[in-house]
Amino acid sequence: MRRFHQTPDWSPGYINVCPQHVQIMAECTACGVMREFDRKTLPDSLRHALIEEIEMRLKCACGAKVAKLRFGHFLDGEEE
Ligand SMILES: [Zn+2]
Repeated sequence: MRRFHQTPDWSPGYINVCPQHVQIMAECTACGVMREFDRKTLPDSLRHALIEEIEMRLKCACGAKVAKLRFGHFLDGEEE
């Protein structure tokens, strides 16, 4: 079971300057669902977009468009 550790109060600003080792999760602030965000699925027009621009385009399965991108890394199977 992987747990996601969010880096507090940090955003790269633009998606293209987000380091490759940083994991991104998309969180729906309406229903609370978090899912892994794969930046490789972004269309070319958003490859250099502001994080806020991408968030505005994310739509959750619940129908809401109030997603936030969370940046951090996964803690792999190490339960303390
Ligand atoms: Zn949702």
